[in-house]
Amino acid sequence: MQVYKGVSASPGLVMGPIYRIHHSGAGLGRIVELPVREQALFDAAVVLAKDELRQLEEAAEGDDRDIILFQRVMLDDPALNREVQEYIAAGAGSAAAMERAAAICARRIESVDDEYIRQRSADVLDACRRVVNILDGRPRTPVQLEMPSILAGERIFPSDIVSVGRGMILGIAAAEGSVQSHAAIIARTMGIPAVAQLGPAFLNEAPLTRGILDADNGRLVVDPDREAVRAAQRRIVSGGILKKRMSVLRSQPCVTLDGTILSLRANCSCPEDIEIAMEAGAEGVGLLRSEFMIADGRIPGEEEQYYFYISCLQAAGGKPVTVRTFDIGSDKTVRGVSEPALNPALGMRGIRMSLARPQMFLDQVCALLRAAAKGPLQVMFPMITCAEDWRLTMELVNRAKAQLRQRGVPFKEDTVFGSMIEVPSAALLAPELAAQGCGFFSIGTNDLTQYTYAADRLDGRFSGYFAGESTAVHRLIDLTIAAAKQAGLPVCACGVSTSDPGRAVRYARQGVRILSMEASSILPVKAKLLEADLAAPETAQG
Ligand code: PEP
Ligand code: MG
Repeated sequence: MQVYKGVSASPGLVMGPIYRIHHSGAGLGRIVELPVREQALFDAAVVLAKDELRQLEEAAEGDDRDIILFQRVMLDDPALNREVQEYIAAGAGSAAAMERAAAICARRIESVDDEYIRQRSADVLDACRRVVNILDGRPRTPVQLEMPSILAGERIFPSDIVSVGRGMILGIAAAEGSVQSHAAIIARTMGIPAVAQLGPAFLNEAPLTRGILDADNGRLVVDPDREAVRAAQRRIVSGGILKKRMSVLRSQPCVTLDGTILSLRANCSCPEDIEIAMEAGAEGVGLLRSEFMIADGRIPGEEEQYYFYISCLQAAGGKPVTVRTFDIGSDKTVRGVSEPALNPALGMRGIRMSLARPQMFLDQVCALLRAAAKGPLQVMFPMITCAEDWRLTMELVNRAKAQLRQRGVPFKEDTVFGSMIEVPSAALLAPELAAQGCGFFSIGTNDLTQYTYAADRLDGRFSGYFAGESTAVHRLIDLTIAAAKQAGLPVCACGVSTSDPGRAVRYARQGVRILSMEASSILPVKAKLLEADLAAPETAQG
């Protein structure tokens, strides 16, 4: 048994097999070409995929060989190929066309009244994914877990988590990484325990078989002895009892002792997250990180995005959803879109990236304006730094509206647009943003701390800046709230720090009335706020 100490990135305690991830270089995304070229690329990718499968077939035995043979034959299926051809002719990229055709073909197989044939739908998807990966230049062996496991690696990326089926990742153990990283944020949103900064040594332990990931205490126990296993089992059982007690708070409104009403919302990235958040008692989605939709490098067109946002509204069941437009850049790399930069956090990121790619942005805004006609959806922009950013952004929003009008497509004319406040200049210029028509502010404490203290949020050595009370950040929040009050605008705070009950109370004292956090923190934060008296002197709050 060996114990490794790291930093907790998402709480919880789990036990299970450890699966080591090895990252090989991912390929580059690309612009969709003319249909004739896309078709040629597709045909070539199928030939290559069949070749790879033939090699695997030769190395396989018995049933395994049959499965691979089936996959290879499937790639010649006329119906599948016709479907791909039609999508390509309609303007889709070859990879996207293959993905869609595969999903349809798999669904068709799943509806057959024969269990054996139904099982084959997974093989269809697998074979088609091979072609998609070739087209995207990705390695053909992404994370494939055979049983629920603890993922271990030097670093775990958002795409590692989203590419694995829900329920298959028990926990995450990373040699590096930080609490503010987006992989950690996704882990918390999905309620997956995670420990970062365990150091490289644990990865050298061979073989990594079983482990106890005690993310409540930032520890990984590799190859635990019987006593450690029993102790972990006891804690897992008592943790379940505490959860039940907390759930009583779910339906209670969040009103502090002095009668201040707060809205506790969730940070999410997809409809599945939203469902989890609603179960956890969220009163809406305060931050939908839309960029996770495109983490694999494929940027869906307007129509597909529209259905995605509609699904988010449905998952929220009538509660408000605030969608942030793509925040690409810095650590949120998207293949084919992100640019290499000397200082990625200070470069082409957030709204700058959207302004530099107007067509991508227009597609997104059109989809959002249309979805806003279907439910309580508002939109905000990441990394706005000044009134000029806002003006240029709204110019494109107005262009999107004009396009929709011209096409005769219904949308919500008075959709509310707001600005993230995650750069000090935005807090300092909040009155100017309000004067330009900004409809609300959402304070992103992760980046606001990073940019205020010039401390890389991904570098664990600087985690001290993010962990405690921060006078400089609080002053910037005060400025934002003063500007919002003056203009009568709502203010939300999102970011990792809102999940800390003590800091949530602090933000409420400053005047923030909407707090958005990881779903798993909503009840502990609510428990603390219900006991808080915002009118009492600060020292009384502890
Ligand atoms: C933030 O910066 O606080 C924030 C919520 O945005 P993200 O973490 O996605 O950069
Ligand atoms: Mg941010």
